Amino acid sequence: MSHGSDFYDLASLIVAHDAPHAFEAVVPPIVQTSLFTFSSYEEMVATYRGEKARPVYTRGLNPTVRFFEEMLAKLEGAEDALGFASGMAAISASVLSFVGPGDRIVAVRHVYPDAFRLFGTLLKRLQIEVTYVDGRDEAAVDKAMAGAKLLYLESPTSWVMEAHDVGALAAVARRHGALSVIDNSWASPIFQNPLSLGVDLVLHSASKYLGGHSDVVSGVVAGSKALIDRLRAEAYPYLGGKMSPFDAWLLIRGLRTLPLRMAAHQASALEIATRLKALDVVETVCHPGLANQLPPGLNGTSGLFSFIFKPGVDIRAFANHLKLFKLGVSWGGHESLIVPGEVVLEQKAQPNSAHTFGISERSVRLHVGLEGTEALWADLTSAIEVATTPL
Ligand SMILES: *Cc1c(COP(=O)(O)O)cnc(C)c1O
Repeated sequence: MSHGSDFYDLASLIVAHDAPHAFEAVVPPIVQTSLFTFSSYEEMVATYRGEKARPVYTRGLNPTVRFFEEMLAKLEGAEDALGFASGMAAISASVLSFVGPGDRIVAVRHVYPDAFRLFGTLLKRLQIEVTYVDGRDEAAVDKAMAGAKLLYLESPTSWVMEAHDVGALAAVARRHGALSVIDNSWASPIFQNPLSLGVDLVLHSASKYLGGHSDVVSGVVAGSKALIDRLRAEAYPYLGGKMSPFDAWLLIRGLRTLPLRMAAHQASALEIATRLKALDVVETVCHPGLANQLPPGLNGTSGLFSFIFKPGVDIRAFANHLKLFKLGVSWGGHESLIVPGEVVLEQKAQPNSAHTFGISERSVRLHVGLEGTEALWADLTSAIEVATTPL
């Protein structure tokens, strides 16, 4: 599906997808139930024999979760999708469905830190090896892919926003007979549809833009029916990281405004990034929209980026003086957030803590929310003033 830049068109598409609901409710009622009963022995046995498809138990199939999955599949141009209890459940199920002991994965460097930790702990114990490459270097990816089973992508990455030519990397994976998987949380389906670029599976932390209101933790994977069926057969029921009906219901609401929210995040973040870049106290701004052009297939930019202060700025004072920007991890909601790089680098207790994900001590990650560009800019500049005034 091609979205172009007509956000209103896409919004109407999302609304038009709704079938009539019980009581003609405008919103699909939440089916908050663990099990579904059968009206007769015959119906039950027909269902168990696979002659009749209907919900039995919510860990397998729940109508509210299914409704969200169908909306998301449509947005990503996928044949099917599966909802998970978190982005990490989506990542672990996607990877574990396709690799086993002795297999090797190639991943772009700076992947989401908990994906990196999954690879370095559980996968390592299962004798699955992961090789990291700079995804901007297609030749390096090609070289690393020899004999590998899966290419794990994330573009742009979520701290230094390294953006890749996703279509070219998917083609490399295909040439090597390997499966490609991408974490598309940053761009959302509004700005990037990796399946149309040749990637096999696309996943999201739905806790970010898909939900959009910072009240849900969940994840989703989309792709061909054959690949999603493979996830549905083992990892989904037996690892059991199933999306809850209530979370799906909140996500259905979130998706209805996704195109409008993404347009607002894009405009505000790009303006703030441009202004930050012009400041004397800022060394670099890591925002894909400031480059001459976006990589092929990335059709817009979201609200998450980072920048690096020049030496001498008091980042603690900067953080403490912000009022609209709250100190907090995650992103994708209505609210603006910051994470100081020097705080993240204190996270020593984690496995593989030597890896920095591209985070530098003088960097600050911003999520630009929906409060309005001028109010956010005023908040930033007054905090920068305090942080750069010698006492
Ligand atoms: C948050 C995040 C995840 C993990 O998602 P959860 O819903 O927190 O499990 C994965 N990838 C990226 C890029 C993220 O930001």
